[in-house]
Amino acid sequence: MSPAFEICTVCEVRANVELRYGAVCCNACRIFFYRNFRSLDFPSECQTPGQCHDNWKWCEYCHFKKCVSAGMRPPLKYFLER
Ligand SMILES: [Zn+2]
Ligand SMILES: [Zn+2]
Repeated sequence: MSPAFEICTVCEVRANVELRYGAVCCNACRIFFYRNFRSLDFPSECQTPGQCHDNWKWCEYCHFKKCVSAGMRPPLKYFLER
């Protein structure tokens, strides 16, 4: 699938998007997701409650939750190798 200039289903920013990890997302969200699904000390709750509404102002926890609710899933391979 080649990149298209559309709305990212995670951060809702207009960007070059691609189908990655199960959701159509921008490069920034793809990298964010990739970096964080491997992180063992990932926050378990919102770090700035009440302030995670605006685009690109989410804490890591809320951004990750957005990724998941947009349909993103870590590749199965990752769990098998762990
Ligand atoms: Zn995005
Ligand atoms: Zn948050």
